[in-house]
Amino acid sequence: MKSIPALSAIMLVGVLPHTASAFQMDPAVPAEQRKVMLEDYGYLDRLQILDEGNDLLTRQLLETPRVSAPQLKSWLSSRMKAVISEKTDIETSVRIVSRAAYYQNGGTMPEIDAPVPTPTPKPAPTDGSGKPAFKPMVVMSNMGTAIYMYGKKNAKLLGLQGSDGKVMEIRTPRDGLVQIGEGLFHERLRVNPERVDLPANRLARLSTYFHEARHSDGNGKSLGFAHAMCPVGHAYQGYYACEKNLNGPYTIGAMVLKKLTEACSDCSAKEKTTLQMIQADSLSRVLKSYRNKSGFTENAKVWNTAPEKVLFSI
Ligand SMILES: [Zn+2]
Repeated sequence: MKSIPALSAIMLVGVLPHTASAFQMDPAVPAEQRKVMLEDYGYLDRLQILDEGNDLLTRQLLETPRVSAPQLKSWLSSRMKAVISEKTDIETSVRIVSRAAYYQNGGTMPEIDAPVPTPTPKPAPTDGSGKPAFKPMVVMSNMGTAIYMYGKKNAKLLGLQGSDGKVMEIRTPRDGLVQIGEGLFHERLRVNPERVDLPANRLARLSTYFHEARHSDGNGKSLGFAHAMCPVGHAYQGYYACEKNLNGPYTIGAMVLKKLTEACSDCSAKEKTTLQMIQADSLSRVLKSYRNKSGFTENAKVWNTAPEKVLFSI
């Protein structure tokens, strides 16, 4: 999730009824991407996901009675409801729906860590052409939560105008509006670069969806399960790529991916190793203990997941 830049072009407009359902796609999402994402979601039914009795932790994490394909689908679809294209310009698409809105936990916002020094950049590896071979790419962002937080700060009800002209109101982070980044389908970020629709690539994308879906949860201090700054000495030192809780997006992404990888009979041993590396990378971002503002060591806790909302607007 990333924050919205200054929203300079806000306009007051009429609003059409809110009809979000699972993976509702903005018409600007290219047909091929739409197809792949819907198939990713459907692929959960193709996996032999079994609750083997040792999934207590995953059950607690997802707050589900058991771990199964229908439970995972329902968890995901209640938090990731609308998808917008990477080309949608958020800054010019946000609209004021109501001039005054009263938010639950008004005035209480998540604490954002102060920056720490970023490590000295190493020369980027080249692909032989003299150009850097890798550049950071956004995979997916939970823009609904970012817009909700911006509305809460300004005590206004906001919405996002889609490419069809309809405005989707953001009354709770659970409105689940996510934006595709250029990295989601990019060959370079695939587990197996060969084809976008290989099962292993679907699993990695599903893990991303579950990560973003967790950003649709939380209230007050836990609103949106905001990332924390990775501390000095961490592999991602200086980046907002860590978390200070035990049930946040990185934990969810890793635990769900573990379960899906175990259930994938169409993934090769090599692909499973790569998927396990993604899980390990996600878990390395969970700071089990950290220094608090007063300089004392604090242990990470389970955060409250109940989503907050706009109480009323005028
Ligand atoms: Zn995130």
